[in-house]
Amino acid sequence: MAKLIDGKAVSARLRQEMKAEVEALKEKGITPGLAVVLVGEDPASQVYVRNKIRACEELGIRSENHLLPADTTQEALLGLIEELNRREEVSGILVQLPLPRQIREEAVIAAIAPEKDVDAFHAQNVGRIVQGSYRFLPCTPAGVMELIRSTGVAVEGKECVVIGRSNIVGKPMAMLMLHQNATVTICHSRTQSLAETARRADILIVAIGKAKFVTAGMVKEGAVVIDVGMNRDENGKLCGDVDFASVEPKAGYITPVPGGVGPMTITMLMRNTITAAKLAGGLA
Ligand code: NAP
Repeated sequence: MAKLIDGKAVSARLRQEMKAEVEALKEKGITPGLAVVLVGEDPASQVYVRNKIRACEELGIRSENHLLPADTTQEALLGLIEELNRREEVSGILVQLPLPRQIREEAVIAAIAPEKDVDAFHAQNVGRIVQGSYRFLPCTPAGVMELIRSTGVAVEGKECVVIGRSNIVGKPMAMLMLHQNATVTICHSRTQSLAETARRADILIVAIGKAKFVTAGMVKEGAVVIDVGMNRDENGKLCGDVDFASVEPKAGYITPVPGGVGPMTITMLMRNTITAAKLAGGLA
């Protein structure tokens, strides 16, 4: 039976440390601040934004919430970002995605000052991730790295298979594992012999958005299995990309859904906001 990787516990420990760090920064006259921008009324996005604001409050990070109507023009949004880029008390800027159709996401991401880009989506920060000279780590992959670290399993030299190649999760995830000296394979929807490839993995990271896709036959005995997926099953219950019931007896470590990767993402956003404040204050 696999050991459960408890994302809530890891996240709580990290938040405790960050809270102390924020207090220490405030004593030096630096208050980290996060500006969250939401365009429209997508219910899932509203929940994410609320959770981000709540996490800021918990850690003593100043937050401000910019709620814009769904018919906001790209020009108006870029105007707001320009203002947020200029304001010193705003250390980090997060524009909640997806955006309404009339706004080009790439234009918005490109407009955020790279040193305030706490999602690490700006091309400059993506380039830094590839080079290994990063200031910000993308939140979900960074959370996965913390979860793997919490197992005590060494990454160096291990076979790592990442299933999924999105810009937000799969690609940066593979880069972070590569920087930790894993031998990394990336699989996607066109991969042939996916099951065979996945079975090679000492560390299997799944981010595809397909409920219970990975079954026991795709997993090596004793593997570390990280499930990034967030889906609804046939009964409307939250579930991951991994068929937990079949994989858990075979894996060495496994993340549950919910309670695995999910709680880590916002915690890593908080870390990036603190880093951004330190950068602006000349401390990083
Ligand atoms: P995405 O942009 O839709 O990308 C999905 C990736 O999975 C694509 O690269 C796609 O391949 C690949 N894929 C889809 N079906 C596949 C299949 N049958 N076999 C192999 N590969 C397949 O998704 P994402 O943004 O990376 O998110 C992935 C999942 O993680 C979603 O469930 C999402 O909700 C979840 N997520 C969770 C968190 C969190 O905080 N816990 C954060 C972000 C995302 P192609 O490129 O070939 O199309």
